[in-house]
Amino acid sequence: MKLNPLQNDRAAGVLVALAAGDALGAGYEFGAPLPDGAEVTMKGGGPFGFAPVEWTDDTSMAIPIAQALLESASAAGSTSPTALTMVVRAWTSWAAEAKDVGAQTSTVIAAARRLATAAGRSKVHAADFSAAADFHVRTGRSAGNGSLMRTAPLALAYLDRKPAELMAAAGVMSALTHADPDAQEACGLWCVAIRNAVLTGLLDVRVGLPLLPADRAAVWLERIETAERSRPRDFPNNGWVVEAFQGAWSAIYYAGLSASGPAHLRAALEEAVRGGRDTDTVAAIAGGLLGAAYGYTAVPFEWRRRLHGWPGMHARDLMVLGMELGRGEGRRSASWPRADRHDYSMWSRTDVLVRHPHDGGVWLGGVSSLARVTELGIDAVVSLCRLGTLDVAGVAPEDHATFWVIDSAVDGDNAHAAFTLQEAAAAVERYRAEGKTVLLHCVRAESRTPTVAALYGASVAGISPVEALADLRRVLPGARPNELFMRVLRDADGAIERVPGGATPPVAM
Ligand SMILES: [Mg+2]
Repeated sequence: MKLNPLQNDRAAGVLVALAAGDALGAGYEFGAPLPDGAEVTMKGGGPFGFAPVEWTDDTSMAIPIAQALLESASAAGSTSPTALTMVVRAWTSWAAEAKDVGAQTSTVIAAARRLATAAGRSKVHAADFSAAADFHVRTGRSAGNGSLMRTAPLALAYLDRKPAELMAAAGVMSALTHADPDAQEACGLWCVAIRNAVLTGLLDVRVGLPLLPADRAAVWLERIETAERSRPRDFPNNGWVVEAFQGAWSAIYYAGLSASGPAHLRAALEEAVRGGRDTDTVAAIAGGLLGAAYGYTAVPFEWRRRLHGWPGMHARDLMVLGMELGRGEGRRSASWPRADRHDYSMWSRTDVLVRHPHDGGVWLGGVSSLARVTELGIDAVVSLCRLGTLDVAGVAPEDHATFWVIDSAVDGDNAHAAFTLQEAAAAVERYRAEGKTVLLHCVRAESRTPTVAALYGASVAGISPVEALADLRRVLPGARPNELFMRVLRDADGAIERVPGGATPPVAM
Protein backbone atom coordinates (compact mmCIF):
# COMPACT_ATOMS: atom_id res chain seq x y z
CA MET A 1 0.00 0.00 0.00
CA LYS A 2 1.03 3.62 -0.36
CA LEU A 3 2.69 4.63 2.88
CA ASN A 4 3.17 8.21 4.04
CA PRO A 5 6.72 9.16 5.12
CA LEU A 6 6.06 8.35 8.78
CA GLN A 7 4.44 4.99 8.01
CA ASN A 8 7.35 4.19 5.73
CA ASP A 9 9.79 5.01 8.55
CA ARG A 10 7.81 2.79 10.93
CA ALA A 11 7.63 -0.16 8.51
CA ALA A 12 11.39 0.17 8.04
CA GLY A 13 11.88 0.15 11.81
CA VAL A 14 10.19 -3.16 12.65
CA LEU A 15 13.00 -5.58 11.79
CA VAL A 16 15.80 -3.19 12.73
CA ALA A 17 14.46 -2.62 16.24
CA LEU A 18 13.65 -6.32 16.61
CA ALA A 19 17.27 -7.16 15.73
CA ALA A 20 18.61 -4.39 17.97
CA GLY A 21 16.69 -5.76 20.96
CA ASP A 22 17.83 -9.26 20.08
CA ALA A 23 21.52 -8.26 19.85
CA LEU A 24 21.26 -6.15 23.01
CA GLY A 25 19.93 -9.11 24.96
CA ALA A 26 22.30 -11.71 23.47
CA GLY A 27 25.07 -11.07 25.99
CA TYR A 28 22.71 -11.44 28.96
CA GLU A 29 20.75 -14.54 27.95
CA PHE A 30 19.78 -16.84 30.85
CA GLY A 31 21.28 -14.38 33.35
CA ALA A 32 19.54 -13.17 36.51
CA PRO A 33 17.62 -9.89 36.42
CA LEU A 34 19.78 -6.76 36.63
CA PRO A 35 19.12 -3.92 39.08
CA ASP A 36 17.50 -0.68 37.92
CA GLY A 37 19.97 1.58 36.20
CA ALA A 38 22.44 -1.23 35.46
CA GLU A 39 24.22 -0.51 32.20
CA VAL A 40 23.08 -2.64 29.27
CA THR A 41 25.36 -2.72 26.23
CA MET A 42 25.78 -4.56 22.92
CA LYS A 43 28.54 -6.61 24.52
CA GLY A 44 27.86 -9.95 22.82
CA GLY A 45 29.03 -13.17 24.41
CA GLY A 46 26.40 -14.92 26.49
CA PRO A 47 25.94 -18.69 26.56
CA PHE A 48 26.24 -18.99 22.76
CA GLY A 49 29.26 -16.73 22.30
CA PHE A 50 27.77 -14.13 19.96
CA ALA A 51 29.92 -11.29 18.63
CA PRO A 52 29.11 -7.81 19.94
CA VAL A 53 26.08 -6.36 18.10
CA GLU A 54 25.27 -9.74 16.51
CA TRP A 55 21.65 -10.85 16.44
CA THR A 56 20.56 -14.37 17.37
CA ASP A 57 17.94 -16.93 16.37
CA ASP A 58 15.05 -14.52 16.92
CA THR A 59 16.06 -12.28 14.00
CA SER A 60 17.52 -15.13 11.96
CA MET A 61 14.14 -16.87 11.98
CA ALA A 62 12.22 -13.65 11.26
CA ILE A 63 14.28 -12.85 8.16
CA PRO A 64 13.14 -15.90 6.13
CA ILE A 65 9.53 -14.97 6.92
CA ALA A 66 10.16 -11.45 5.63
CA GLN A 67 11.93 -12.71 2.51
CA ALA A 68 9.25 -15.28 1.69
CA LEU A 69 6.51 -12.71 2.17
CA LEU A 70 8.32 -10.30 -0.10
CA GLU A 71 8.68 -12.94 -2.82
CA SER A 72 5.04 -14.00 -2.57
CA ALA A 73 3.58 -10.52 -2.08
CA SER A 74 1.69 -10.43 -5.35
CA ALA A 75 1.33 -14.19 -5.71
CA ALA A 76 -0.52 -16.77 -3.69
CA GLY A 77 -0.44 -15.01 -0.32
CA SER A 78 1.56 -15.15 2.84
CA THR A 79 0.38 -18.50 4.16
CA SER A 80 0.26 -20.35 0.86
CA PRO A 81 2.09 -23.70 0.83
CA THR A 82 4.68 -22.13 -1.48
CA ALA A 83 5.44 -19.26 0.90
CA LEU A 84 5.46 -21.50 3.97
CA THR A 85 7.76 -23.98 2.23
CA MET A 86 10.19 -21.14 1.44
CA VAL A 87 10.17 -20.20 5.12
CA VAL A 88 10.73 -23.70 6.51
CA ARG A 89 13.51 -24.44 4.01
CA ALA A 90 15.33 -21.28 5.08
CA TRP A 91 14.87 -22.23 8.74
CA THR A 92 16.24 -25.70 8.03
CA SER A 93 19.35 -24.26 6.35
CA TRP A 94 19.84 -21.82 9.20
CA ALA A 95 19.40 -24.54 11.85
CA ALA A 96 22.14 -26.63 10.21
CA GLU A 97 24.70 -23.92 11.01
CA ALA A 98 23.16 -21.99 13.93
CA LYS A 99 24.51 -22.19 17.46
CA ASP A 100 21.29 -21.37 19.28
CA VAL A 101 18.27 -23.21 17.88
CA GLY A 102 15.48 -23.26 20.48
CA ALA A 103 14.56 -26.67 21.92
CA GLN A 104 11.06 -26.86 20.47
CA THR A 105 12.05 -25.47 17.08
CA SER A 106 14.99 -27.88 16.94
CA THR A 107 12.74 -30.86 17.73
CA VAL A 108 10.22 -29.90 15.04
CA ILE A 109 12.90 -29.26 12.39
CA ALA A 110 14.52 -32.64 13.10
CA ALA A 111 11.14 -34.40 12.90
CA ALA A 112 10.24 -32.58 9.68
CA ARG A 113 13.54 -33.63 8.11
CA ARG A 114 12.84 -37.25 9.02
CA LEU A 115 9.40 -37.02 7.41
CA ALA A 116 10.93 -35.57 4.23
CA THR A 117 13.59 -38.27 4.13
CA ALA A 118 11.01 -41.01 4.69
CA ALA A 119 9.08 -39.62 1.70
CA GLY A 120 12.22 -39.76 -0.41
CA ARG A 121 12.70 -35.97 -0.60
CA SER A 122 15.96 -34.11 0.02
CA LYS A 123 14.18 -30.88 0.98
CA VAL A 124 11.44 -30.26 3.52
CA HIS A 125 7.95 -29.04 2.67
CA ALA A 126 5.69 -26.94 4.88
CA ALA A 127 3.47 -30.02 5.29
CA ASP A 128 6.35 -31.82 7.00
CA PHE A 129 6.39 -29.07 9.61
CA SER A 130 2.69 -29.18 10.38
CA ALA A 131 2.88 -32.94 10.81
CA ALA A 132 5.93 -32.60 13.04
CA ALA A 133 4.34 -29.84 15.10
CA ASP A 134 1.09 -31.78 15.49
CA PHE A 135 3.10 -34.67 16.81
CA HIS A 136 4.83 -32.36 19.25
CA VAL A 137 1.50 -31.06 20.54
CA ARG A 138 0.29 -34.58 21.19
CA THR A 139 3.42 -35.54 23.06
CA GLY A 140 4.40 -32.54 25.10
CA ARG A 141 4.24 -28.83 25.79
CA SER A 142 4.48 -26.60 22.76
CA ALA A 143 4.00 -23.11 24.12
CA GLY A 144 7.60 -21.90 24.00
CA ASN A 145 8.26 -18.31 22.92
CA GLY A 146 9.91 -19.35 19.64
CA SER A 147 7.08 -18.35 17.31
CA LEU A 148 6.31 -15.01 18.98
CA MET A 149 9.95 -13.93 18.72
CA ARG A 150 9.95 -14.21 14.91
CA THR A 151 6.41 -13.15 14.03
CA ALA A 152 6.78 -9.39 13.48
CA PRO A 153 7.44 -9.28 9.70
CA LEU A 154 4.10 -10.97 9.04
CA ALA A 155 2.30 -7.83 10.22
CA LEU A 156 3.99 -5.78 7.50
CA ALA A 157 2.40 -7.92 4.79
CA TYR A 158 -1.07 -7.12 6.15
CA LEU A 159 -1.07 -3.33 6.37
CA ASP A 160 -3.77 -3.07 3.71
CA ARG A 161 -5.71 -6.16 4.73
CA LYS A 162 -8.13 -6.92 7.53
CA PRO A 163 -6.68 -7.47 11.02
CA ALA A 164 -8.72 -10.68 11.27
CA GLU A 165 -6.83 -12.10 8.28
CA LEU A 166 -3.55 -11.19 9.97
CA MET A 167 -4.66 -12.84 13.21
CA ALA A 168 -5.41 -16.06 11.30
CA ALA A 169 -2.16 -15.98 9.31
CA ALA A 170 -0.15 -15.43 12.49
CA GLY A 171 -1.68 -18.59 13.92
CA VAL A 172 -0.73 -20.58 10.82
CA MET A 173 2.84 -19.26 10.85
CA SER A 174 3.17 -19.99 14.58
CA ALA A 175 1.81 -23.52 14.21
CA LEU A 176 4.67 -24.51 11.90
CA THR A 177 6.60 -25.08 15.11
CA HIS A 178 4.35 -23.85 17.96
CA ALA A 179 0.77 -25.04 17.59
CA ASP A 180 -0.36 -24.39 21.16
CA PRO A 181 -3.31 -21.92 21.19
CA ASP A 182 -1.41 -19.63 23.59
CA ALA A 183 1.43 -19.33 21.06
CA GLN A 184 -0.93 -18.79 18.11
CA GLU A 185 -2.96 -16.15 19.96
CA ALA A 186 0.14 -14.36 21.26
CA CYS A 187 1.46 -14.10 17.69
CA GLY A 188 -1.92 -12.86 16.47
CA LEU A 189 -2.25 -10.18 19.15
CA TRP A 190 1.33 -8.99 18.72
CA CYS A 191 1.04 -8.86 14.91
CA VAL A 192 -2.23 -6.92 15.02
CA ALA A 193 -0.61 -4.47 17.46
CA ILE A 194 2.39 -4.07 15.11
CA ARG A 195 0.11 -3.49 12.11
CA ASN A 196 -1.79 -0.85 14.08
CA ALA A 197 1.44 0.79 15.25
CA VAL A 198 2.84 1.09 11.71
CA LEU A 199 -0.41 2.60 10.45
CA THR A 200 -1.11 4.95 13.38
CA GLY A 201 2.06 5.31 15.45
CA LEU A 202 0.15 4.12 18.53
CA LEU A 203 1.23 1.43 20.99
CA ASP A 204 -1.90 -0.57 21.80
CA VAL A 205 -1.55 -4.26 22.56
CA ARG A 206 -5.32 -4.58 23.19
CA VAL A 207 -6.29 -3.72 19.61
CA GLY A 208 -6.51 -7.40 18.56
CA LEU A 209 -8.53 -8.61 21.56
CA PRO A 210 -11.95 -8.26 19.84
CA LEU A 211 -10.74 -10.72 17.20
CA LEU A 212 -10.42 -13.53 19.75
CA PRO A 213 -13.33 -15.60 21.13
CA ALA A 214 -14.72 -13.80 24.19
CA ASP A 215 -13.38 -16.25 26.73
CA ARG A 216 -9.87 -16.11 25.27
CA ALA A 217 -10.00 -12.31 25.02
CA ALA A 218 -10.80 -12.21 28.74
CA VAL A 219 -7.82 -14.42 29.53
CA TRP A 220 -5.47 -12.23 27.50
CA LEU A 221 -6.90 -8.99 28.90
CA GLU A 222 -6.08 -10.18 32.39
CA ARG A 223 -2.57 -11.15 31.28
CA ILE A 224 -2.06 -7.69 29.76
CA GLU A 225 -3.36 -5.95 32.88
CA THR A 226 -1.02 -8.05 35.01
CA ALA A 227 1.88 -7.01 32.78
CA GLU A 228 1.00 -3.36 33.28
CA ARG A 229 1.26 -3.79 37.05
CA SER A 230 4.58 -5.61 36.76
CA ARG A 231 8.14 -5.36 35.52
CA PRO A 232 9.90 -7.77 33.11
CA ARG A 233 11.75 -9.32 36.05
CA ASP A 234 8.36 -10.45 37.43
CA PHE A 235 8.09 -12.95 34.55
CA PRO A 236 10.99 -15.35 35.18
CA ASN A 237 9.33 -18.12 33.16
CA ASN A 238 9.75 -16.06 30.00
CA GLY A 239 10.72 -19.06 27.86
CA TRP A 240 6.92 -19.64 27.94
CA VAL A 241 5.17 -17.60 25.28
CA VAL A 242 2.72 -16.04 27.73
CA GLU A 243 5.41 -14.70 30.08
CA ALA A 244 7.57 -13.59 27.13
CA PHE A 245 4.56 -11.60 25.85
CA GLN A 246 3.95 -10.17 29.31
CA GLY A 247 7.65 -9.39 29.83
CA ALA A 248 7.85 -7.54 26.52
CA TRP A 249 4.67 -5.55 27.13
CA SER A 250 5.64 -4.73 30.73
CA ALA A 251 8.99 -3.37 29.46
CA ILE A 252 7.21 -1.15 26.94
CA TYR A 253 4.54 -0.07 29.41
CA TYR A 254 6.88 0.60 32.33
CA ALA A 255 9.48 2.50 30.26
CA GLY A 256 6.67 4.53 28.72
CA LEU A 257 5.77 5.96 32.12
CA SER A 258 8.92 8.10 32.06
CA ALA A 259 10.08 8.28 28.45
CA SER A 260 8.63 9.02 25.02
CA GLY A 261 9.72 8.88 21.38
CA PRO A 262 13.17 7.44 20.59
CA ALA A 263 14.07 7.58 24.29
CA HIS A 264 11.14 5.24 25.00
CA LEU A 265 12.36 2.74 22.43
CA ARG A 266 15.79 2.65 23.99
CA ALA A 267 14.61 2.59 27.61
CA ALA A 268 12.10 -0.19 26.94
CA LEU A 269 14.65 -2.47 25.28
CA GLU A 270 17.10 -1.89 28.13
CA GLU A 271 14.32 -2.61 30.62
CA ALA A 272 13.47 -5.84 28.75
CA VAL A 273 17.08 -7.00 28.98
CA ARG A 274 17.33 -6.12 32.68
CA GLY A 275 14.41 -8.50 33.23
CA GLY A 276 16.83 -11.42 32.87
CA ARG A 277 16.47 -15.04 31.62
CA ASP A 278 15.45 -15.08 27.93
CA THR A 279 16.65 -11.51 27.49
CA ASP A 280 17.28 -11.49 23.75
CA THR A 281 13.87 -12.94 22.93
CA VAL A 282 11.88 -10.64 25.23
CA ALA A 283 13.79 -7.63 23.85
CA ALA A 284 13.34 -8.85 20.27
CA ILE A 285 9.58 -9.19 20.79
CA ALA A 286 9.42 -5.72 22.34
CA GLY A 287 11.67 -4.34 19.57
CA GLY A 288 9.32 -5.43 16.78
CA LEU A 289 6.46 -3.44 18.28
CA LEU A 290 8.58 -0.46 19.38
CA GLY A 291 10.12 -0.20 15.91
CA ALA A 292 6.62 -0.25 14.43
CA ALA A 293 5.55 2.63 16.66
CA TYR A 294 8.65 4.84 16.50
CA GLY A 295 10.36 3.85 13.27
CA TYR A 296 13.79 3.23 11.87
CA THR A 297 14.83 6.79 12.74
CA ALA A 298 14.29 6.07 16.45
CA VAL A 299 16.86 3.25 16.61
CA PRO A 300 20.11 4.71 18.02
CA PHE A 301 22.95 4.91 15.51
CA GLU A 302 25.35 3.26 17.97
CA TRP A 303 23.04 0.22 17.97
CA ARG A 304 22.55 -0.05 14.22
CA ARG A 305 26.11 0.87 13.18
CA ARG A 306 27.53 -2.66 13.44
CA LEU A 307 24.29 -4.63 13.79
CA HIS A 308 24.69 -7.90 11.90
CA GLY A 309 23.90 -11.58 11.81
CA TRP A 310 22.78 -14.58 9.81
CA PRO A 311 22.55 -14.68 6.79
CA GLY A 312 25.33 -12.08 6.46
CA MET A 313 23.03 -9.08 6.76
CA HIS A 314 23.25 -5.65 8.38
CA ALA A 315 20.82 -3.04 9.68
CA ARG A 316 20.39 -1.54 6.22
CA ASP A 317 19.26 -4.88 4.79
CA LEU A 318 16.61 -5.16 7.50
CA MET A 319 15.49 -1.60 6.86
CA VAL A 320 15.04 -2.38 3.15
CA LEU A 321 13.16 -5.63 3.85
CA GLY A 322 10.75 -3.90 6.24
CA MET A 323 10.08 -0.99 3.94
CA GLU A 324 9.47 -3.16 0.88
CA LEU A 325 7.23 -5.54 2.81
CA GLY A 326 5.19 -2.61 4.06
CA ARG A 327 4.79 -1.17 0.57
CA GLY A 328 3.66 -4.53 -0.75
CA GLU A 329 5.17 -4.07 -4.20
CA GLY A 330 7.85 -6.73 -3.86
CA ARG A 331 11.53 -6.08 -4.50
CA ARG A 332 12.18 -2.93 -6.47
CA SER A 333 15.79 -3.24 -7.51
CA ALA A 334 15.75 -0.17 -9.75
CA SER A 335 14.69 2.35 -7.11
CA TRP A 336 15.79 3.57 -3.70
CA PRO A 337 16.84 1.99 -1.37
CA ARG A 338 17.89 -1.02 -3.46
CA ALA A 339 19.24 0.76 -6.56
CA ASP A 340 22.99 0.96 -7.16
CA ARG A 341 22.90 4.70 -7.82
CA HIS A 342 20.62 7.55 -6.80
CA ASP A 343 20.26 10.07 -9.57
CA TYR A 344 20.93 13.68 -8.58
CA SER A 345 21.99 14.75 -12.09
CA MET A 346 19.02 17.12 -12.35
CA TRP A 347 20.19 19.07 -9.33
CA SER A 348 22.57 22.00 -9.66
CA ARG A 349 25.30 23.09 -7.24
CA THR A 350 25.86 19.67 -5.70
CA ASP A 351 29.65 20.06 -5.87
CA VAL A 352 30.02 22.28 -2.78
CA LEU A 353 32.96 21.13 -0.64
CA VAL A 354 34.51 23.05 2.26
CA ARG A 355 36.25 22.32 5.53
CA HIS A 356 34.31 22.75 8.77
CA PRO A 357 35.39 26.07 10.30
CA HIS A 358 35.68 24.51 13.78
CA ASP A 359 37.38 21.27 12.76
CA GLY A 360 39.46 20.84 9.62
CA GLY A 361 39.10 17.07 9.91
CA VAL A 362 35.47 17.39 8.82
CA TRP A 363 34.52 18.17 5.24
CA LEU A 364 31.09 19.57 4.44
CA GLY A 365 29.69 19.00 1.00
CA GLY A 366 27.05 18.31 -1.58
CA VAL A 367 26.43 14.88 -3.00
CA SER A 368 29.02 15.29 -5.79
CA SER A 369 31.78 15.42 -3.18
CA LEU A 370 31.35 11.67 -2.70
CA ALA A 371 33.47 11.29 -5.83
CA ARG A 372 36.42 12.82 -3.96
CA VAL A 373 36.38 10.60 -0.87
CA THR A 374 39.52 8.65 -1.77
CA GLU A 375 41.42 11.67 -3.11
CA LEU A 376 40.85 13.61 0.12
CA GLY A 377 41.70 10.71 2.43
CA ILE A 378 38.18 10.64 3.87
CA ASP A 379 37.56 7.48 5.88
CA ALA A 380 34.08 8.09 7.30
CA VAL A 381 30.97 9.50 5.61
CA VAL A 382 27.84 10.84 7.28
CA SER A 383 25.01 11.03 4.73
CA LEU A 384 21.81 12.99 5.19
CA CYS A 385 20.19 12.19 1.83
CA ARG A 386 19.14 9.12 -0.12
CA LEU A 387 21.93 7.23 -1.86
CA GLY A 388 22.41 4.19 -4.05
CA THR A 389 24.18 1.17 -2.63
CA LEU A 390 27.34 1.93 -4.66
CA ASP A 391 27.37 5.73 -4.25
CA VAL A 392 29.86 5.64 -1.36
CA ALA A 393 33.04 3.77 -2.28
CA GLY A 394 36.27 3.29 -0.38
CA VAL A 395 34.74 3.47 3.11
CA ALA A 396 34.06 0.54 5.45
CA PRO A 397 30.31 -0.09 5.94
CA GLU A 398 30.46 0.78 9.65
CA ASP A 399 32.12 4.07 8.71
CA HIS A 400 29.24 5.12 6.51
CA ALA A 401 26.41 6.50 8.64
CA THR A 402 23.12 7.29 6.97
CA PHE A 403 20.40 9.35 8.60
CA TRP A 404 16.89 9.79 7.25
CA VAL A 405 16.06 13.43 7.33
CA ILE A 406 13.87 15.23 4.84
CA ASP A 407 14.68 18.89 4.24
CA SER A 408 11.22 19.99 5.25
CA ALA A 409 9.62 22.00 8.02
CA VAL A 410 6.26 20.38 7.35
CA ASP A 411 4.80 18.47 10.26
CA GLY A 412 4.75 14.78 9.47
CA ASP A 413 7.67 14.66 7.05
CA ASN A 414 10.25 13.82 9.73
CA ALA A 415 9.33 11.57 12.64
CA HIS A 416 12.06 12.69 15.02
CA ALA A 417 13.88 15.62 13.40
CA ALA A 418 15.70 16.85 16.51
CA PHE A 419 16.78 13.36 17.55
CA THR A 420 17.97 12.45 14.06
CA LEU A 421 19.95 15.66 13.58
CA GLN A 422 21.56 15.25 17.01
CA GLU A 423 22.37 11.62 16.23
CA ALA A 424 24.06 12.68 12.98
CA ALA A 425 26.16 15.27 14.84
CA ALA A 426 27.07 12.64 17.43
CA ALA A 427 28.13 10.28 14.62
CA VAL A 428 30.51 12.94 13.27
CA GLU A 429 31.89 13.37 16.78
CA ARG A 430 32.23 9.61 17.24
CA TYR A 431 34.17 9.18 13.98
CA ARG A 432 36.44 12.10 14.88
CA ALA A 433 37.08 10.52 18.29
CA GLU A 434 38.21 7.44 16.37
CA GLY A 435 40.70 9.62 14.45
CA LYS A 436 38.85 9.49 11.14
CA THR A 437 38.53 12.22 8.54
CA VAL A 438 34.84 12.78 7.95
CA LEU A 439 32.68 13.93 5.06
CA LEU A 440 29.29 15.25 6.19
CA HIS A 441 27.00 15.77 3.23
CA CYS A 442 23.48 16.03 1.85
CA VAL A 443 22.54 17.03 -1.71
CA ARG A 444 23.64 20.69 -1.79
CA ALA A 445 24.82 21.45 1.76
CA GLU A 446 22.20 24.15 2.20
CA SER A 447 19.89 23.00 5.00
CA ARG A 448 20.58 19.54 6.44
CA THR A 449 24.39 19.64 6.34
CA PRO A 450 24.78 23.11 7.92
CA THR A 451 22.29 22.15 10.65
CA VAL A 452 24.21 19.04 11.66
CA ALA A 453 27.51 20.89 11.17
CA ALA A 454 26.29 23.64 13.53
CA LEU A 455 25.33 21.10 16.21
CA TYR A 456 28.76 19.49 15.86
CA GLY A 457 30.57 22.83 15.73
CA ALA A 458 28.80 24.01 18.87
CA SER A 459 29.99 20.92 20.65
CA VAL A 460 33.64 21.14 19.63
CA ALA A 461 33.99 24.92 19.85
CA GLY A 462 31.97 25.36 23.04
CA ILE A 463 29.63 27.92 21.48
CA SER A 464 25.91 27.91 20.79
CA PRO A 465 24.59 26.16 17.66
CA VAL A 466 23.28 29.47 16.36
CA GLU A 467 26.74 31.04 16.75
CA ALA A 468 28.25 27.97 15.08
CA LEU A 469 25.85 28.44 12.16
CA ALA A 470 27.05 32.04 11.75
CA ASP A 471 30.63 30.77 11.48
CA LEU A 472 29.51 28.14 8.97
CA ARG A 473 27.86 30.76 6.78
CA ARG A 474 31.27 32.31 6.18
CA VAL A 475 32.37 29.14 4.35
CA LEU A 476 28.92 28.04 3.17
CA PRO A 477 27.19 31.24 2.04
CA GLY A 478 24.23 29.19 0.78
CA ALA A 479 23.53 27.73 4.24
CA ARG A 480 19.91 28.32 5.19
CA PRO A 481 18.42 25.62 7.42
CA ASN A 482 14.65 25.42 7.16
CA GLU A 483 12.45 26.76 9.96
CA LEU A 484 12.16 23.43 11.74
CA PHE A 485 15.91 22.87 11.72
CA MET A 486 16.50 26.44 12.96
CA ARG A 487 14.16 25.64 15.85
CA VAL A 488 16.20 22.51 16.58
CA LEU A 489 19.37 24.64 16.66
CA ARG A 490 17.82 27.18 19.03
CA ASP A 491 16.39 24.44 21.28
CA ALA A 492 19.75 22.66 21.38
CA ASP A 493 21.42 25.81 22.71
CA GLY A 494 22.95 24.86 26.05
CA ALA A 495 21.94 21.23 25.68
CA ILE A 496 25.06 20.16 23.79
CA GLU A 497 27.23 17.72 25.63
CA ARG A 498 30.84 17.18 24.72
CA VAL A 499 32.01 13.66 23.97
CA PRO A 500 35.37 13.09 25.67
CA GLY A 501 38.11 12.82 23.09
CA GLY A 502 35.81 14.02 20.34
CA ALA A 503 37.11 17.54 20.13
CA THR A 504 40.03 18.61 18.00
CA PRO A 505 41.45 22.13 17.69
CA PRO A 506 40.20 24.19 14.77
CA VAL A 507 42.40 23.86 11.71
CA ALA A 508 43.12 26.83 9.52
CA MET A 509 41.46 26.77 6.12
MG1 LIG B 1 17.81 -15.73 20.69
